[in-house]
Amino acid sequence: MAAIDGCHEKLKVPVIEERTCPQCGETVEVYTVSGRIRDDETCQCGYVFKADPPLTVKPRSEAEA
Ligand SMILES: [Zn+2]
Repeated sequence: MAAIDGCHEKLKVPVIEERTCPQCGETVEVYTVSGRIRDDETCQCGYVFKADPPLTVKPRSEAEA
C-alpha cells in the first residue's frame, strides 16, 4: 500500500502537435496537453508560441455541488 494515487492527481501526458507559424509558415512542434500548448515554443524566425494557461479555475456553474 505504498502508492497513494488519488483521483485528484492526474498526470497529463503531453502530446507533440504540429503548429504552423503565422509569421514564416514553418511547421513547429509544440508540446500540448489536451490541445493546449504546455510550454513556450520559439520558432526559428523568432515567433513564440505562447503556452496556454492551465485549466485550474473551474466554472462555478458546472463543478460546484
Ligand atoms: Zn516562424
